[in-house]
Amino acid sequence: MSFDSVTARLRAAEENAGRPTGSVQLIAVSKEQPAGRVESVLAAGHRVFGENRVQEAQGKWPDWRARFDPLTLHLIGPLQTNKARAAVELFDAIQTLDRPRLATTLARLAQERGACPEIFIQVNTGAESQKAGVLPEAADGFIAEARALDLPVAGLMCIPPVADDPAPHFRLLAGIAARNGLAGLSMGMSEDFETAVALGATHVRVGSAIFGARPKPE
Ligand SMILES: *Cc1c(COP(=O)(O)O)cnc(C)c1O
Repeated sequence: MSFDSVTARLRAAEENAGRPTGSVQLIAVSKEQPAGRVESVLAAGHRVFGENRVQEAQGKWPDWRARFDPLTLHLIGPLQTNKARAAVELFDAIQTLDRPRLATTLARLAQERGACPEIFIQVNTGAESQKAGVLPEAADGFIAEARALDLPVAGLMCIPPVADDPAPHFRLLAGIAARNGLAGLSMGMSEDFETAVALGATHVRVGSAIFGARPKPE
């Protein structure tokens, strides 16, 4: 099974980087995948998953949660403010905080609920106009803003531009995290997670290497 081979590659990458076994969390990105593929990874004992759309996740995960509790579910796609309530009810971590209005909404929901998912701030390391995330030069200020709202900021997340060598983006993200005293680094996907581990990732988000190519939407 490709889940086993990804796990083996991740353990080897940790070892090559001189990092303790199990120090990097594997987030299995199940978006758009057929249920049977996800269930086989659940059956193998894996319990950490990522989804990029609130609505799609709402349709799938309540049932799996009931059957495979405890699970950890990460939101890794953009979050519209009007879906924030649904997101905090469903997800254990939100990796895509990137703007003040969403921060204040999440802080208000956290107050109301007395609990908040773990928060990662998305940084647009390639400054791509079509991509979500706070710009690198605005990251320090935004991290401070989120902390001032008492949000539990665990770390930073990035999605490097597809055409770029990802390493400089991973280094940039690690530098911003280090100077802000943030331990969490969500970086690395199917094509580049070993590089991300070498550069300090604490969470890698791997979809197609585990589950196979996502079927084309109809
Ligand atoms: C889809 C997705 C992934 C996983 O991508 P693969 O190339 O299938 O590993 C990781 N991160 C984010 C934000 C995604 O949207």
